[in-house]
Amino acid sequence: MAEVLVLVDHANGEVRKTTAELLTIARRLGEPSAVYIGSGIEDAQGVLGRFGSHKVYVADSPEVTEYLVAPQVDILADLIEKTSPAAVLIPSNPAGKELAARLSIRCESGLITDAVDVQAGPTTTQSVFAGSYTTTSSVTKGTPIITVKPNSAPIEGSPAPAEIVKVDTAVSDAAKAAKITDSKPKEQSGRPELTEAAIVVSGGRGTGGDFAPVEEFADALGAAVGASRAAVDAGWYPHTSQVGQTGKQVSPQLYVAAGISGAIQHRAGMQTSKTIVAINKDEEAPIFELVDFGVVGDLFQVLPQATEAVKRG
Ligand SMILES: Cc1cc2nc3c(=O)[nH]c(=O)nc-3n(C[C@H](O)[C@H](O)[C@H](O)COP(=O)(O)OP(=O)(O)OC[C@H]3O[C@@H](n4cnc5c(N)ncnc54)[C@H](O)[C@@H]3O)c2cc1C
Repeated sequence: MAEVLVLVDHANGEVRKTTAELLTIARRLGEPSAVYIGSGIEDAQGVLGRFGSHKVYVADSPEVTEYLVAPQVDILADLIEKTSPAAVLIPSNPAGKELAARLSIRCESGLITDAVDVQAGPTTTQSVFAGSYTTTSSVTKGTPIITVKPNSAPIEGSPAPAEIVKVDTAVSDAAKAAKITDSKPKEQSGRPELTEAAIVVSGGRGTGGDFAPVEEFADALGAAVGASRAAVDAGWYPHTSQVGQTGKQVSPQLYVAAGISGAIQHRAGMQTSKTIVAINKDEEAPIFELVDFGVVGDLFQVLPQATEAVKRG
């Protein structure tokens, strides 16, 4: 069975949930092999094996880790040449998409970005034009290189050996043109990462700047907190939490919009959520056109009651 290379998304050995999703998808296409770049493989190996990784190609050297994505392209291009994989799956984050684009040019292979589903073939599904069209695509030339959005597959375990294979980390001088000079870990909010969370609760201008009920409901559900552009532009919430066309694209199992009107630019970032719930005091608000469940009411009354109900279990 052909290998399917999965680029592992991790922070010093702590494997992100998206990798388990990509390994689950990879099993539909062939035999998953993880590609682990950086340190901490001893912490990650168990997780990668639990989700079906037969091999783990490890590249851990300052030649790779002290630079931006270009050296990783050298590593992956070399692995593609040696293993002729059925596909390469890469997380759809900014670094992943840059890497995928460079890799597809290097290998003269077709590239598909932001897949929300990948099935045997591989055939991919994408949600385009602010979620108003769903397209099905497949690569017609070379090795399919596919970036996959978070929450695109329910995670399923399938134990495999996760045999470590050290790879050659000699990279070209051209790949070392941009060096990382400093990096600081993001301040921990204690909440899940917005783009990976299974549940997102977002607040808009309707909060009037008071995000406490939004945060309390999110915490009761173990959710991430998002915001509309109106809320972040007003300085009520950090720009990194903006959901939408010019913010983050989220696709959780459940998206709750509180005090958000549902402008097209906001929808563009959350329309592919599996279940959408809105709380808005205006029954004419456009957000109600796309919800699975809508509450016409004041968020300051509705959210605390919902929080209490969740806490009661
Ligand atoms: C190029 C461009 C890019 C953009 N990108 C983005 C983007 O990425 N993300 C984004 O969000 N927007 C984006 N916008 C802005 C977008 O067009 C809207 O202006 C914005 O989404 C509105 O935010 P809002 O829904 O919070 O505010 P509003 O549209 O003002 O809606 C507030 C809602 O809250 C309701 N409300 C008020 N009080 C309460 C209450 N107490 N309880 C319940 N409901 C209440 C109101 O009925 C209203 O529906 C972009 C715009 C442009 C032009």
